[in-house]
Amino acid sequence: MGQQFQLPELDDGTDDGTLVAWHVEPGERVAAGSRVAEVETDKSVIEVTIPESVAVTELLRAPGDTVAVGDALFSYEETDSDGETDRAATDDDGPKSAVTRTDDDDGPKSAVTRTDDDGSGPQPATQRESTETRPTVHEGDTDDRTEVLVVGAGPGGYVTAIKAARYGLDVTLVEKEAYGGTCLNFGCIPSKALIHGSDVAHEARNAGALGITAEVDVDVTQLVEWKDGVVDTLTGGVEGLCEAAGVTLVDGVARFVGEHAAAVETADGTETVGFEYAVVATGSRLIEVPGFEPDGEYVLDSRDALAMESLPESLLVVGAGYIGMELSTVFAKLGTDVTVVEMFDDVLPIYEDDISRIVREQASEYGVEFRFGELADHWEHDGDGVRVWTETEDGETTELAADAVLTVVGREPVSDTVNLAAAGIETDEDGFIPTDAQGRTVRDHIFAIGDVTSEPMLAHKAMHEGEVAAAAIAGEPAALDHAAMPAAVFTDPEVATVGLTSEEAAEAGYSPVTGQMPMSGNGRALTVGSADGFVRVVADEPSGRVLGVQMVAPNASELLGEATLAIEHGLTLEALAGTVHTHPTLSEAVMEAAADARGEAIHTH
Ligand code: FAD
Repeated sequence: MGQQFQLPELDDGTDDGTLVAWHVEPGERVAAGSRVAEVETDKSVIEVTIPESVAVTELLRAPGDTVAVGDALFSYEETDSDGETDRAATDDDGPKSAVTRTDDDDGPKSAVTRTDDDGSGPQPATQRESTETRPTVHEGDTDDRTEVLVVGAGPGGYVTAIKAARYGLDVTLVEKEAYGGTCLNFGCIPSKALIHGSDVAHEARNAGALGITAEVDVDVTQLVEWKDGVVDTLTGGVEGLCEAAGVTLVDGVARFVGEHAAAVETADGTETVGFEYAVVATGSRLIEVPGFEPDGEYVLDSRDALAMESLPESLLVVGAGYIGMELSTVFAKLGTDVTVVEMFDDVLPIYEDDISRIVREQASEYGVEFRFGELADHWEHDGDGVRVWTETEDGETTELAADAVLTVVGREPVSDTVNLAAAGIETDEDGFIPTDAQGRTVRDHIFAIGDVTSEPMLAHKAMHEGEVAAAAIAGEPAALDHAAMPAAVFTDPEVATVGLTSEEAAEAGYSPVTGQMPMSGNGRALTVGSADGFVRVVADEPSGRVLGVQMVAPNASELLGEATLAIEHGLTLEALAGTVHTHPTLSEAVMEAAADARGEAIHTH
């Protein structure tokens, strides 16, 4: 029997509002926890979510209609926890009905939508059973059993494991190298520790304007030891949290040998583990530049750079993306001569021009030199260092010399360590594992989360996806929503963004209005001696709803929390601008940018 979904109690206490947009359409299967509609009340814009998985049959209201709590919004049929409708007839509808969508049409697109099969990609749910490869090992034949097998203990994997164990599930977490994964061992944490160390050295050397002078000597071995201590504290913490939650930790490599079984190779041998559910959280690795295979001495990758025991006098960095710019800034501040080679025409190519410009200009002030429009072609040993040849699009070559070359040109998913084929799972052409809004692969009981599933490759995205997957396994309502996915670059000044740029908002059909507050007008920025940059707020002009925020500012990564919260909860410019902010703080710039978008800013014009 078809049922009707009624507008639930509204979070802001109001009784009615205007239906602004649908996030679902007839024929669509919607996972529990997904957003289904947007309702604007007198106080705010509210995302209406659905507590259970359903198949939408008919929309009963249109955008622009006034809707009150209790009004029927759409009719639906119930589905089981795997998103299959309870009626066999729905399966007959074919692959279309396998689409599970939680992406907001207007939000940044996540790669979580499973679409109709075009013959090239993984098969949608309704075609699975007929095309599956029979498993070679069955759960019953295995040496050991677990309810949930998590492969990879990076931020995605360990969060999934802890969360699933806290739901009362029996969880085994297999890690082949280091608990905490890339982020804690070779990425976010060590890089931020070295950024802090280089900031301290740089500030101490450059405080003359404040009447403070100091002779600064950097002992890189000690700096790296301190950084390693921070890493050890956190990775030890991860193991402790897992153990406290009752997760079984296994040091080894896991490979599927069937749909419900994996071979786990450890120092003591290999055993097969049967599982009811599996979560692939195998992360990503650096992309190698052809001809520049890292050797740890002359050709370095970011892992080598974060573990250096002495400072090179000169360093050539290939790639001006976020990792390249963070590490270039670290080495330049510590006293290395840094030259960055980038094939595009500015740093941080995926960001807006005014953001890239500020980061480039500041990096130049710290002594970084740039060569844009050039590709690193090949290299040779030269005494104790390297010679690197670069080439422009026109074929013009340049020879550069340095102590070492560091290549940081991006990351690719690690989907080749786990024998996905044995579980009947295929990757897309870029090596990512396609998943739906709960992280399910084409095998309903096998999930994939984190870097191995999609861009952006960020630790907090992996953790969020892990929480959703664990909840889905436990049968709780949960679905991914990447509309408010923040991102930060820890350069100096920092860059932080969330939601849509003005251009993206216009492309998505909004009438965007922007407000901007320069950090030079912010008292706190001046008192910390870092007044370059701005905060920009993008909103939908008619409703005032905040759609995106871009900032280049000291501590932008921290300031972004407020902006992310605003977007996640559909807050308006009025809410941001009308909230009293402590003075003097950098966060006042967020309030002022929102006020500027309303034509009401006090400290800018
Ligand atoms: P990972 O952290 O890569 O973990 C995957 C784990 O799976 C690894 O430990 C691997 O050993 C294990 N594994 C793989 N195959 C198997 C197998 N078959 N069996 C058992 N184990 C297996 N992100 C941010 O959000 N903020 C930052 O500031 C930031 N800075 C970064 C700086 C650098 C230099 C780098 C390199 C990355 C940075 N990142 C940052 C990205 C961040 O590290 C990743 O997005 C994050 O680690 C992804 O988490 P994950 O769990 O998906 O994968």
